[in-house]
Amino acid sequence: MPLIVHKYGGTSMGSTERISNVAKRVAKWARAGHQMVVVPSAMSGETNRLLALAKELAPARPTDAYSRELDMLAATGEQASSALLAMALQALGLESVSYAGWQVPIRTNNAYTKARIESIDDKKVRADLDAGRVVIVTGFQGLDDQGNITTLGRGGSDTSAVAVAAAMKADECMIFTDVDGVYTTDPRVVPLAQRLKSLSFEEMLEMASMGSKVLQIRSVEFAGKYKVKLRVLSSFTPWDIDILEEAKSGTLITFEEDENMEQAIVSGIAFNRDETKISVLGVPDKPGAAYQILGAVADANVEVDMIIQNLSKDGMADFSFTVNHSDHAKTLDMLKTVVLPKLGAQAVVGDTNICKVSIVGIGMRSHVGVASTMFRVLSEEGINIQMISTSEIKTSVVIDEKYMELAVKALHKAFGLDQAPV
Ligand code: ASP
Ligand code: MG
Repeated sequence: MPLIVHKYGGTSMGSTERISNVAKRVAKWARAGHQMVVVPSAMSGETNRLLALAKELAPARPTDAYSRELDMLAATGEQASSALLAMALQALGLESVSYAGWQVPIRTNNAYTKARIESIDDKKVRADLDAGRVVIVTGFQGLDDQGNITTLGRGGSDTSAVAVAAAMKADECMIFTDVDGVYTTDPRVVPLAQRLKSLSFEEMLEMASMGSKVLQIRSVEFAGKYKVKLRVLSSFTPWDIDILEEAKSGTLITFEEDENMEQAIVSGIAFNRDETKISVLGVPDKPGAAYQILGAVADANVEVDMIIQNLSKDGMADFSFTVNHSDHAKTLDMLKTVVLPKLGAQAVVGDTNICKVSIVGIGMRSHVGVASTMFRVLSEEGINIQMISTSEIKTSVVIDEKYMELAVKALHKAFGLDQAPV
């Protein structure tokens, strides 16, 4: 019997009526001859509500003791939705049982509020499935080696579902959510964006890391590592939609690149407004300069995305790199006060009005001239490119934030991604 994992997001679990619809959908799949494991999120708004209670009571403290309690607290959201779903399934005449992460157990490291899954013991779940039960496993949580409850970071139920699917060697992991799939770009920016029928795992990883919020990025990494067949689809279709139709709907994240052979060279346009640019100007061009700057940034626990160093002129070089908005002020400050005097550089300047726009597609591996098409399109729109970076399957540019929408629209059209008129 095929084993399928369903994951339902907070919106899909948002009320008892919706939970009852989820149960009907799951029952349809179970009755059609599938072994079913379901991973729900907390009811929408519940995680925020719980975390707000904590804040109201005591200001957040960066201690393990405080974070431990945050996880104890937040994990209850999924425990409640899971139990409700099991009851709803029982009401439909199915045998069903729910487990919290610690009961499975799903083992994680001990990084409270952002724990990573280390292993999943599938014995109990497997036994229930073999006994004909639908098994519900809470999303978002696990157990560390000291027996503490941990959570996986916001949006972590996606990762729970993929990890369970990987551990159980499920035939497919279906992520039911409030959008009907992955789009060529954000439809709020480009109304002509279209849903992708399929996308390679590497493309999804690039899209997710650059702002497409459909899946928690760690879940995509997990799917890649363990080759989990992953589908993103809508939970807002009627629950009794034909199962064969449903099985083909949404976006499939796949490993079979051959299937994509005839697809567009560029699959999607991603963008990210969360980055800012920092430049260190007039750096003496000598060994160790990059290390002194970027080593200090890394030591401050700041993640750097794009980096460029220009050619040295008169023995001086300029460095620019991008960091997240939330790290901008602290990085700038650290460079000015600590690194600049030591390095003998001339100035450190920051620019928060930038954004990153990327074209993504595995077709770029085997086609030349894709990046140059991007540069031509931007130049025709009069948009200045401040930084460029490339990988095998993407080209990213940093541009002035005010041109973001213009750039994304123009690129979307130029690469043939605008929806065909119907
Ligand atoms: N309930 C958690 C959150 O809101 C996990 C999830 O929904 O994936 O982040
Ligand atoms: Mg989510």
